[in-house]
Amino acid sequence: MTLDDRGLNPTALLGMEGPDVGCDGCFELLDEYVEAEVAGAHAAAAFPGMAQHLVCCPACDEEAVSLAALHARPPSVRPPAG
Ligand SMILES: [Zn+2]
Repeated sequence: MTLDDRGLNPTALLGMEGPDVGCDGCFELLDEYVEAEVAGAHAAAAFPGMAQHLVCCPACDEEAVSLAALHARPPSVRPPAG
């Protein structure tokens, strides 16, 4: 039995179109996605496949969250640049 058979297709639930980029695609786009998000852009609209994947994949979602934290607030352990 697949998700489709049970009517639990995440795409349908979210009302989103566009294919899930998968973990590989997510990994490639993660930097760009997070930078857009941190910059205040609507990253989910720019990368619908990414947004969809992050909803479905806890591992990549966690990666995105920690990456966003790095962008938003540089770790204090790092020496100041310049
Ligand atoms: Zn993933």
